[in-house]
Amino acid sequence: MSSIPPLAGGPQGPAALRPLLSTVLDALHEGAAHRAGPLPAGGPEHVTARLLAAAGDPLPQHGTGAEAALRTLVTALAAGAADPADPLCAAHLHCPPLAVATAADLAASALNPSMDSWDQAPAASALEAALTTALARETYPGADRPDALVTTGGTEANQLAVLLARETNPHPEPVQLLVGQNAHHSLARATWLLGLPEPIVLPAPTGTLDPVALDEALTDLPGPKLVAATAGTTDAGLIDPLPDIADLCDHHGARLHIDAAYGAGLLFSTRHAPLLHGLDRAHTTTLDLHKLGWQPVAAGLLAVRDTDDLRALTHTADYLNADDDTEAGLPDLLGRSLRTTRRPDILKTAVTLKALGRTGIGALVDHVIALAHHLAHLVDTHPDLELYDTPTLSTVLFRPTGATDDHLAATRRTLLTEGRAVLGRARMDGQLYLKATLLNPHTTPDDLTALLKLVEGHTPR
Ligand SMILES: *Cc1c(COP(=O)(O)O)cnc(C)c1O
Repeated sequence: MSSIPPLAGGPQGPAALRPLLSTVLDALHEGAAHRAGPLPAGGPEHVTARLLAAAGDPLPQHGTGAEAALRTLVTALAAGAADPADPLCAAHLHCPPLAVATAADLAASALNPSMDSWDQAPAASALEAALTTALARETYPGADRPDALVTTGGTEANQLAVLLARETNPHPEPVQLLVGQNAHHSLARATWLLGLPEPIVLPAPTGTLDPVALDEALTDLPGPKLVAATAGTTDAGLIDPLPDIADLCDHHGARLHIDAAYGAGLLFSTRHAPLLHGLDRAHTTTLDLHKLGWQPVAAGLLAVRDTDDLRALTHTADYLNADDDTEAGLPDLLGRSLRTTRRPDILKTAVTLKALGRTGIGALVDHVIALAHHLAHLVDTHPDLELYDTPTLSTVLFRPTGATDDHLAATRRTLLTEGRAVLGRARMDGQLYLKATLLNPHTTPDDLTALLKLVEGHTPR
């Protein structure tokens, strides 16, 4: 029986894991050294060719054994990674995970609780309940019965928010979603998925939702309405005028969702939390701790001001939550998600928050925002670069003065192809900008100077 591979769990699990982890860590190290930059050079064709050559047959008739398979594939993946821990990898809301969170995630895999029934996750479900309650209170400090569900990210949280608006709507007419032009694309997709009318898209002339346009649109709409505001736009890191929007929703009887996938991290920062003023007036709030929370994917949440709103998700499957089991006191977990089998994603977040505390996470938030201000200052005082605006969160938009949109897009792709820097792009006021999303607290001012030098050196004139 010795040819049966060892398991990760049980009393023997750790001993079986230890040498394999050592292989994984060596492979991560070797792959990163091989890459020598934020992403692999050569563009998609070369990267794919190298990966396929290194990986060999992905489904061999006879296996290579654990050691060789781990070494080969982990090295190849690390060598070909876009590594958010590299200071010059700053395109997206793609954060470098903290080591402590990643270590906790290993335990989640080893124990493999599944969050769809208590008998698969007795302690994990209790931890999830405790932390979601705590995070819901953080989001809704004044509410009587706030609650939060764990999601795979902002997309699933936004979908659930739109679903809850549909299910709590007492009127025969379908609920109409209103969003700003600056809202995340997942909201429109959610209406499509849920069979609701297409959203009304309102102007966001300065990057944030225009309350005057919202007021007019709400005045003209007779039926049930859901307004979705954004606290931390994906393109520019801007925060909609939340108190004004909440006032308008109250006045017009509209339900309010706030997508704080990016901005929610500010809750932990004493200095920057006031920017989220008005957040607690939303019925539902999207949080994403795999952005300003330094978690490995996935770490999303949907917070609700009143747990009653979640009743719509109640669902019974006899093998998971039979009525008599629930009556006998076994917690019913099925209504906590639309998924069935579900990872205990809360463990890494719980470990991180316990390890760093509010102040530790808050300090990281403050630090990346300060880095963004430093980059903005470098751009602003640079003779050949233009700044879009002073950053609110940790996103900086800029462009080489006089460059066309095509030049700018080409500069971005050249840096990607050469494996030198990963920058994003965003269209604001009809013009294309380079986007640096700073989520790496280890980035230094010198790194930012180097980043701008690279852009300068690669801009065709
Ligand atoms: C990132 C983001 C989302 C989507 O979150 P995922 O975790 O990628 O699903 C939604 N809304 C906003 C504002 C975002 O920035």
